[in-house]
Amino acid sequence: MRDRRAANLARLRDETFDVLIVGGGINGAGIARDLMLRGGGFRVALLDKGHFSSGTSGRNSQLIHGGLRYLKYFDFQLVAEALRERATLLKIAPGLVWPLEFLIPCYSMFDRYFYGAGLMLYDALAGRHAVGHHHTLDLGKLRRLEPGLADEGLRAGLTFFDCGVNSARLVIENILDAESFGSCVVNHVEARQTESGILATDRFSGETFPVRAKRTIDATGAWSTGGPLRLVRGSHLIFPKIQSGTEAISYFDEQGRIVFLIPWGERRQMTLVGTTDVDHNGSPDDVHISEGETEYLTGIVRRLFPEYRGEPVSSYSALRPLIAEEGRSATSTSREHRIWQTPDGVLHIAGGKYTTYRAMSEELVDGLLPDLAPGRNLPCRTAETPIPVAAVPDDEAARVRMAVEREFARRLEDVIYVSTYWGYERPLEREWLTPIAREMGELLGWDAAEVEAELTRVLARRGVH
Ligand SMILES: Cc1cc2nc3c(=O)[nH]c(=O)nc-3n(C[C@H](O)[C@H](O)[C@H](O)COP(=O)(O)OP(=O)(O)OC[C@H]3O[C@@H](n4cnc5c(N)ncnc54)[C@H](O)[C@@H]3O)c2cc1C
Repeated sequence: MRDRRAANLARLRDETFDVLIVGGGINGAGIARDLMLRGGGFRVALLDKGHFSSGTSGRNSQLIHGGLRYLKYFDFQLVAEALRERATLLKIAPGLVWPLEFLIPCYSMFDRYFYGAGLMLYDALAGRHAVGHHHTLDLGKLRRLEPGLADEGLRAGLTFFDCGVNSARLVIENILDAESFGSCVVNHVEARQTESGILATDRFSGETFPVRAKRTIDATGAWSTGGPLRLVRGSHLIFPKIQSGTEAISYFDEQGRIVFLIPWGERRQMTLVGTTDVDHNGSPDDVHISEGETEYLTGIVRRLFPEYRGEPVSSYSALRPLIAEEGRSATSTSREHRIWQTPDGVLHIAGGKYTTYRAMSEELVDGLLPDLAPGRNLPCRTAETPIPVAAVPDDEAARVRMAVEREFARRLEDVIYVSTYWGYERPLEREWLTPIAREMGELLGWDAAEVEAELTRVLARRGVH
């Protein structure tokens, strides 16, 4: 197998770049692709200390949405922009972004009219970018659609449309497309800012070397040290399918927090339940669901579907890198993004939503162009250029090969949490993990001890994500 990662690593060591992007989440990926599509012949490098999309971008709620809940905070501009971007992503990434119907069960007439009014506004803000319009379901229709919903106090249902996304794969496809235009992309390489510039360390060999670049972009999200960020943890539980229908359910708790029950998994055989908003004061490398969050999310499932007996198969947690705002709660802190430069010349990007990554990347690159290509008019092309999406084989061994050979998977986690979500859809067990580790071993030249070490490391994470 031709080792593209080794070749890209050598380029990272030897070449001088116009732009170095640190962080291969959706923002880093979007910026790399945008720069490559401008047609300025820019030399762009992107690196990530783990696998691409192993941070927040692969562990979010997997929605491309306007954010119905932000209407409550009068963030109309944020919602309108996200709805516009939703339509753009549906157009440029079909297959990875798909329309998804949502159901709001209303347990009072107040809810029915309150959320009904919100949905009217949501549809109006979407305008010509609407994916579908909202509807009201009477009790009979609602019960036929979801017979397992708690009956007491149930008055009506409201349906509306947003979009689902395979959020880890959309990052990977952006990065691979940027690579196809000449970008140098390397995972498992950690960057460190020093007085003399950026030092990169290959996390496999331990080799450290300087990276030469005119401009550096910090797209490290929750790991950024470029300014005051508020890290808010959000967790999800994955259950065997809960609802009867194919729609996602939006439930508003007593505080008005929204929790989604989203059909999920390769065959939609699971339900993704989340999320939470908890201030996170520990390391961004140590993020997992707390007992309180598990109880909260499980409690909602039991309350909504009292006859359902399933238990969570797995969980995952991630951090929202939000722009700190005095006097706001974790839930109400704005999801607006910010792009700023620190005195060392590094450009930082943080906040915002996955949904708006393309527009955020465009804004950042537009701001960079006068420096990179003075006097040249290089318009953004990402809003109309489709992202090529590779077909995924059904055969498991073939999928593992694709993850290693095409998508740079180098650890067992890379395959089961990024290229696929098997690690979330199945309880972690040696039985199904072993053939995957062996297949990777054959492709990457691991000996038996290395295969075992990969298995041991993943199995040690049972129950912790
Ligand atoms: C629980 C939760 C649910 C969410 N749900 C949604 C949703 O449904 N829809 C939506 O639109 N938005 C959602 N969001 C928001 C959205 O997911 C984030 O805004 C977005 O993913 C942030 O992307 P990013 O690229 O900035 O960060 P990340 O994806 O975290 O990427 C940063 C990368 O930088 C790397 N890195 C860090 N330090 C270094 C270093 N020193 N050297 C090299 N690499 C480094 C990390 O490994 C990581 O891969 C959600 C957020 C959370 C937390």
